[in-house]
Amino acid sequence: MTLNVSVVVPLYNEDESLKELDQWIKKVMTDHQFTYEVIYVNDGSSDKSWQVIETLAKNNDAVRGICFSRNYGKSAALFAGFEMAEGQVVITMDADLQDSPEEIPELRSMIVDQGYDLVSGWKQKRYDPISKTVPSKLFNGVASWLSGIKLHDFNCGLKAYKKDVVKSIEVYGEMHRYIPILAKEAGFMNIGEKVVQHQARKYGVTKFGLNRFINGFLDLLSIHFMTKFGKKPMHFFGALGSFMFFIGVLSALWVGGSKLWYVFQGIEAERVTESPYFYLSLVSMVLGTQLFLTGFIGELVSRSSTERNAYKVSKVISKS
Ligand code: UDP
Ligand code: MG
Repeated sequence: MTLNVSVVVPLYNEDESLKELDQWIKKVMTDHQFTYEVIYVNDGSSDKSWQVIETLAKNNDAVRGICFSRNYGKSAALFAGFEMAEGQVVITMDADLQDSPEEIPELRSMIVDQGYDLVSGWKQKRYDPISKTVPSKLFNGVASWLSGIKLHDFNCGLKAYKKDVVKSIEVYGEMHRYIPILAKEAGFMNIGEKVVQHQARKYGVTKFGLNRFINGFLDLLSIHFMTKFGKKPMHFFGALGSFMFFIGVLSALWVGGSKLWYVFQGIEAERVTESPYFYLSLVSMVLGTQLFLTGFIGELVSRSSTERNAYKVSKVISKS
């Protein structure tokens, strides 16, 4: 029998919160009579987190655990949890008690009854320092605009997925911030949002410093680029390269042409190297060629990738 819910909890040095979190999840699950599992993914904690998980597993049959031998990051932890999850609906939540397990039944129902592929939490009222909330608003604005997914809070740790979604996406690097974009790219268009309760961190400290914004922004650019041009880099670099080369040629023609014209007229003309157009044409042609070559190499790389023909097929009619 498939389980109703798998809860995936990535954690790094959160030993103080785990027991409380586990009891809370258990209470919500039994109140709603869900069959469930909780997968704790210990992301190389240096505190007692793993010992706590082992104790929890002794007392609760629903507890599963994965222990990384070093800290790989939240995305890696989520990926490992997704691989193990067997429930019909997969819920992810942070281990720091900032997300409330009380939201699980409603999130599950949005997936099961309302047919969403993914529902993202929205911490409309946040209990985080302003240094985090303001840049985060900007981020979400840009991410939503670039991806065309109307969400207010991409990075919310509390999310619900149809099982199929977590088995189809590969969360890597620090892409946990952009899972809805990965899901959309994998063909899951039905992405919803639910306002969720948020608490201030009760124990421990945040694991992401200010560099989250720099890395997050770079990741956003690369994911945007990958979705748009990942499979056809030549369309980006080739177009840009050809355009620059064309500008270069025009400018060279202008320099050469006007020099010849002056010569035929018998007028004394300035040297070609004295014209700014000469340098413009040089730079443009060199840059254009380089961009074009970059596109070409990109094509070669993407063509030899094993995933070049990995499509997500939802239905097939074939000869019986
Ligand atoms: N986390 C993790 N690996 C890491 C960093 C964080 O598994 O390398 C977990 C962390 O233990 C927590 C969740 O990811 O359960 C969110 O982290 P945190 O609460 O520090 O982020 P914030 O709420 O400040 O965005
Ligand atoms: Mg947190």
